[in-house]
Amino acid sequence: MSHTIAAVSTGHQISAIGIIRLSGEESCAIAQKVFTAMNGRPLSEAPDRKLLLGQLHDRTGRPIDQCMAVYAREPHTYTGEDTVEFHCHGSPAVLAAGLDALFAAGARPAQRGEFTKRAFLNGQLDLTQAEAVIDLIEADTADAAANAAGQVGGKLKKKLSPIYQDLTDLCSHFHAVLDYPDEDIEDFGLENYAATLRTHAKTLYALSQTYGQGRILRHGVAAAIVGKPNVGKSSLLNALAGFDRAIVTDIPGTTRDTVEESVMLGPTRLRLIDTAGIRETADTVEAIGVERSRQAAEEADLILFVCDGSQPLSPEDEDIIDLCGEHDNAIALINKTDLGNAVVPGDLPFTMVIPICAKTGEGLDQLSDAVEVLFQQDLPCDGSLLTNARQYDAVRRAYDAMLRALQGLKLGLTPDAVLTDVEEAMSAMGEVTGNTVREDITARIFERFCVGK
Ligand code: GDP
Repeated sequence: MSHTIAAVSTGHQISAIGIIRLSGEESCAIAQKVFTAMNGRPLSEAPDRKLLLGQLHDRTGRPIDQCMAVYAREPHTYTGEDTVEFHCHGSPAVLAAGLDALFAAGARPAQRGEFTKRAFLNGQLDLTQAEAVIDLIEADTADAAANAAGQVGGKLKKKLSPIYQDLTDLCSHFHAVLDYPDEDIEDFGLENYAATLRTHAKTLYALSQTYGQGRILRHGVAAAIVGKPNVGKSSLLNALAGFDRAIVTDIPGTTRDTVEESVMLGPTRLRLIDTAGIRETADTVEAIGVERSRQAAEEADLILFVCDGSQPLSPEDEDIIDLCGEHDNAIALINKTDLGNAVVPGDLPFTMVIPICAKTGEGLDQLSDAVEVLFQQDLPCDGSLLTNARQYDAVRRAYDAMLRALQGLKLGLTPDAVLTDVEEAMSAMGEVTGNTVREDITARIFERFCVGK
């Protein structure tokens, strides 16, 4: 029997309502010790999942709130266990006293994510759904929320489950024939599974390809602002962020470290990284900053190269331009247009060149349009995008293992050699869905082939 856990589920700030949640076998018994229904009847007799008006008491028995309680009986609850929720007035003091009373009555404090962990362990959610719950809570755009909601609803699970099932069938068929030769089981021919393996490898590849967009959906576009000192990089970051986040001075090299700021530029979330001026220097502290700039530029989804348009390009500018040339997405910004036009778009070897004035905000609309062109794709944000690095890594490994299996099949390797790769693919997929390979194959052998008689 697992302990009954309790926690405030709505945060600890003042709000109109606040919810205390209990989950576990003893939920109702514990809740009854701190709650009296207005109708005088015990909570255990309340209809399932119906709100009941009553009084909440603190651990001394003193009434502290008039609230609603709802009792949901297992297994049709979020955690799969008996659950009670108290919908209280959202005073942090009320919620703390109510929670304390539940602890005194026998509940224990829930750990982080424990309700969702129980939902997973009790089979209410698979791992893709459980992980998406936190993505949904943390989503900062409607698109990110929609994708996470799709995954909570099982979109990713539905994509991976049929693949996993087919691979389980394949492995269990092979093992059943091998381990139970006397049973009446259809002969095993690996070549019969070649088409299935190919189709699933393709699906896994396509899924892995959604990660680029999914990552941006979840974290925003990582944009490195690069350029030599004093061209207006920090001013640009401040103009985009709308307030003074980076220190702006006219002494070259003031931005010693990288500064990060998350901003919405039109419909795109940018994680702006203002780097120290990229230039060769003997100063050690600054040299670290320069190295970080190089790294930031390498790891960024987008490079915003800034130059001072009031002065001709210098060799320093040219070096940084070379660095940008290796990047897929780079936009050149000719800043300080209010001071003159010593640099014109034709001087810069970039597909996108935009004159701007960081001081007045001129040109930022065009920048917003350009970023939108580069990063807003009409991909469905319905849960089909992989947004999580761990999931991406596992799906890639599953795909690689499937490719090896197909290769082995082509080379005429023995079924057990090929199946090693198939099982590896399943194991990698299991890291995403939470399945355990061996157990699944074993379970299927008995269930499908009825050999355990
Ligand atoms: P960074 O070293 O590249 O980060 O450059 P800063 O943002 O610190 O700016 C250096 C100097 O240029 C500061 O004095 C800014 O006020 C000035 N500056 C930045 N953008 C503009 C602009 O568009 N027009 C004018 N006139 N001055 C600017």
